[in-house]
Amino acid sequence: MKLTTRIFIGMIAGMVVGVAINAAVSAGWIESAGEFWLVDGVFDPAGTIFIACLKMAVIPVVFFSLTCGAAAMGASARMGKLAGGTLGLYLITTAIAVAIALLVANIINPGLGVDRSGFEAWETKNAPSLKEVIVGMFPTNPVQAMADGKMLQVIVFCILLGVAMPMVGATGERVLQVFQDINEVVLKMITIIIHLAPYGVFALLAKQFSLFGWSEFVKVGLYVVAVSLALVLHFCIAYPGLLKVFTGLNVLTFIKNVRPAMITAFSTSSSAATMPVTMSVVKRRLGVDNRVASFTIPLGATINMDGTAIMQGVATVFIAQVYGVELSFAAYLTVIITATLASVGTAAVPSAGLIMLAIVLQQLELPAEAIGMILGVDRLLDMMRTCVNIGGDCAVSTIVAKRNGMLDEGVYNEAPDRDEYRVRSSETSQQGKP
Ligand code: ASP
Repeated sequence: MKLTTRIFIGMIAGMVVGVAINAAVSAGWIESAGEFWLVDGVFDPAGTIFIACLKMAVIPVVFFSLTCGAAAMGASARMGKLAGGTLGLYLITTAIAVAIALLVANIINPGLGVDRSGFEAWETKNAPSLKEVIVGMFPTNPVQAMADGKMLQVIVFCILLGVAMPMVGATGERVLQVFQDINEVVLKMITIIIHLAPYGVFALLAKQFSLFGWSEFVKVGLYVVAVSLALVLHFCIAYPGLLKVFTGLNVLTFIKNVRPAMITAFSTSSSAATMPVTMSVVKRRLGVDNRVASFTIPLGATINMDGTAIMQGVATVFIAQVYGVELSFAAYLTVIITATLASVGTAAVPSAGLIMLAIVLQQLELPAEAIGMILGVDRLLDMMRTCVNIGGDCAVSTIVAKRNGMLDEGVYNEAPDRDEYRVRSSETSQQGKP
């Protein structure tokens, strides 16, 4: 059976088992899902180990592949063009995402008639300012940046290191050769980890679904519907539309190819933890050259969060409606700008989007403690929006690669028909070469 199919089966089976345990708790057959031996003793450790394996691969894959990619580009104008195009597309797609969210929220009106009593208040956590985000991109200690998983700092360091390599002639070439060799080994390591995905995905989803408090969903059901619908519309209309317009590629093939990354995002709720899989998918199934993928994917996982921006847009309208606040046209524009920026500053970990939602609410003078109303349903929505976050990274990466002549369409069109995760050394050793 193909690995993608096995991952898919792991996802469905995990959800079914989780829902069954949840139902058994409701029926009183099991006292508490969290303390049930199968959840606490099997699913929890298995899922945690899978996420640890993924996270373990993040820094090595970014460090070696991005340095090789930057070295291949050198200090050429191409690097600037690629970076500019990527950033521009990331921001535009996020702004489109918020606009879709606002439109859907205004059609569904999720907050009308919702009673705000009986919800726990949310305690605002400190969100970083824009200045802090920009200054914080430059590391004083690259090793510390890697240890702390500060992705933007690692990106800045790798680009500088990579750009410096070709500038020192034969010495730089020797160092680059070592990096390329290690990069190949790291990719193989990710391949091994991806083979654990069917089990890891199963364990994570079985645990998550067994713990959901479904009664919360009833209270804010329309909010859940509005966020889900906006996410689906953005994923199924905005990305395919952009892909078609900018690349002319077959969009169904795109959706088929990105499935392993989507399922990993759904089960981990973390763009950062999903990154090794995203990187592998973009290179091996979408045919994006390492020079593009090594830059667009770590950057996208860190700053491009269309799904998060959608949640923030819908949540703002929801909370405004619950509190009876009428939003003006200027207020909607403020939401588009602040939600786009807030999603950029959102950490790529579970639930981080809620922390940054406080900023959007504060701009509109809405009470941040109202976030407590959507807390109970956030985990499932987080799983869904992380899929969209990752989908956006893959789409932009493909567009940038195609527009710069760095997309292997043979791989793009054929990937689902072959064993996509068998690392062929001849293939990897070509990637990232100047
Ligand atoms: N979990 C999301 C991610 O990692 C961030 C969020 O919206 O909470 O992409």
